[in-house]
Amino acid sequence: MADVKSPTSNQYWFNAASATIPGGVNSPARAFRSVGGTPLIAERGEGDLLFDVEGKSYIDYCGSWGALIHGHAHPRIVAAVQKRVAEGSSFGVTTPSEVRLAKKVVDSVPSIEKVRFVSSGTEATMSAVRLARGFTGRDLILKFSGHYHGHADPFLVEAGSGVACLPTSSSSGVSAELVKHTLSIPYNDFEAFEAVMRSHGKKIAAVILEPIAANMGLVLPKSGFLEMLRSYTERVGALLIFDEVISGFRVGLGGAQELFNIMPDLTCLGKIVGGGFPAAAFGGAAEIMDHLAPLGSVYQAGTLSGNPVAMAAGLEALEMCSQPGFYESLQSKTSELVDPIQDFIESENIEATVHRAGSLFTLFLGSRSVSSIDDVKKCNPARFASLFQRLLARGIYFSPSQFEANFVSMAHTPNSLEFTKQSLLEALIEEKHAKAD
Ligand SMILES: *Cc1c(COP(=O)(O)O)cnc(C)c1O
Repeated sequence: MADVKSPTSNQYWFNAASATIPGGVNSPARAFRSVGGTPLIAERGEGDLLFDVEGKSYIDYCGSWGALIHGHAHPRIVAAVQKRVAEGSSFGVTTPSEVRLAKKVVDSVPSIEKVRFVSSGTEATMSAVRLARGFTGRDLILKFSGHYHGHADPFLVEAGSGVACLPTSSSSGVSAELVKHTLSIPYNDFEAFEAVMRSHGKKIAAVILEPIAANMGLVLPKSGFLEMLRSYTERVGALLIFDEVISGFRVGLGGAQELFNIMPDLTCLGKIVGGGFPAAAFGGAAEIMDHLAPLGSVYQAGTLSGNPVAMAAGLEALEMCSQPGFYESLQSKTSELVDPIQDFIESENIEATVHRAGSLFTLFLGSRSVSSIDDVKKCNPARFASLFQRLLARGIYFSPSQFEANFVSMAHTPNSLEFTKQSLLEALIEEKHAKAD
């Protein structure tokens, strides 16, 4: 047990953090509220390992919430950043590095002709919605319950009980006025979508979703769902926005839109695009993007937007992603870990299921079928917390909530994956016995 009075304990730093930072964290999920225990305080990272201030190492499947597709401190990213930062870290004017990354994004993501960089996913979705409203001259936006689009006001809504029912805000400080233009319906619900399109379609500026939902645990779209969204939005003149902040450059270089071959009007990117630095982006057809200031009337700006250090990191990350066989190799790493778990669950008849897309996965405990946020809520959070703690004790760090995805990176070694697989199998056996007692 580490001494809480010593700066080599997580508890020491968490206590100190709590004295000056609300809840001791700068983003709520870091507080481990849904799994309990002392949050990790990171000292450094290397490859697939995160080291805490107690000197313990953890095989990291959170990967800074998906940003670190090449693992921690990849030598190529470190070198690119060191070179860039020594030449000045910010200028407030355009630099070649953002032009290079813009070209890379446009070449990689099929629906993007022009792109604008911002500093966070929240800014990307907020700006994309403003652009959609400016472009269509309409106010309403439609989202899906359980999908996360950052913390801008219009997205902080609780779904109403009926389809036509306007949602209420899910955070205090967000006035009813600000969310009255947001409609929220269940994900993967064809009828609910058709109904809301029939009643409100012509007033909707944009339908926004994660084409692969990854903030309610990982939940794939039902077959035909994205097709239906694409055809209906086109028919009523609403824009379709894919929030690919997680799926972008994760399920393939072209994201979910390339995987499913469905082209949105606007795409939001984040996480991987910044190579571990604060950068995000939104983009789409030039015809739409050119409505942004200074060309058009939709205002959008940022002091550190397109920051050269973040751009250098992002470019290096995407270039490594573009190497032949990159995604195949990442996916086979993930299969090695995840397929045996799913096989075991099925053969042992365990009340659980594994969802997976590329190198993303979620192990749902307490349910065998999950396609909506209501299904996720029927899972067993106590079982998840116990699994999480068991893994953590063995030096494996899973994303700290049943509502999150886990991320395999290119840095995960065969040994780490094998150890994780064995630990998961043992945990599932123990759980099964515990339940039988
Ligand atoms: C992380 C995330 C965001 C928000 O990005 P931030 O950089 O945290 O503001 C938006 N959408 C999705 C799908 C995300 O996963």
